[in-house]
Amino acid sequence: MTDQNIKTKQALIQQLRTVAEKETVWLEKNRLLYTQKREQLAHLIKERGLTGGEVTPEEQKLSKHVALYESKRSGMWDLATGINREEKNLQAMKARRKKKKQTLSEKEILKFADQLGYAVEPIESRSKPKRTSRKPKQSEDTVVDLWRDKSEVDVASARSKQTSAKRRLAGQLNTFNRCPYCTEKLTFERSHVDHIHPVSKGGVSEDYNLVLVCAPCNTSKGSKTLRAFCRDSELNFEVVVARLEQIGKEV
Ligand SMILES: [Zn+2]
Repeated sequence: MTDQNIKTKQALIQQLRTVAEKETVWLEKNRLLYTQKREQLAHLIKERGLTGGEVTPEEQKLSKHVALYESKRSGMWDLATGINREEKNLQAMKARRKKKKQTLSEKEILKFADQLGYAVEPIESRSKPKRTSRKPKQSEDTVVDLWRDKSEVDVASARSKQTSAKRRLAGQLNTFNRCPYCTEKLTFERSHVDHIHPVSKGGVSEDYNLVLVCAPCNTSKGSKTLRAFCRDSELNFEVVVARLEQIGKEV
């Protein structure tokens, strides 16, 4: 959406620039002629003032030409101001997009929360104890907020949960000592624990859904389903599934 807005803005600026270039060429080409016509016109007006005669067609024509040039020139000023303003807008849009990309998305935070071993199942809201009849809607925000509120002790305990999950999965590397997704060589130390079926889509933290993978695969899989990840990473889904089944996973 934002990227589309930026593209639209860039296209608009390009169009304005093209118009501005043409106008500049025209103004340059006619500048001398304009100066001459303006002088001629001034002369005619002055003469008419002295003689008290009527406006001649010649004066009318010159007047029109001078007015056209001046209006085009002032239009050019407006155009330059407009381009300047649109470019500032574009810079601001790009800066906002950059900032957005630097902050973690909620899904990413959710994934990290899960990697640290936090339960992401629905939990009761503590803020409205009276309205027990109506179950509070569980949103990703709630989970993320709770995760942010976790104390350091909790983080430490989650880390140890994560470590123990990883230790439990170590045997996988005896069967197949490569990342089951991309088949890069994999050591226990450098392996990451991935949820085959993502937590954000209902995947559980049971060993049959947990697998040791390489860090790049873990990062690019994020909260994607296995099928989506394989498609985006140009991996053969069926082959990946077969490998996972070979090391005792359920897909
Ligand atoms: Zn991999």
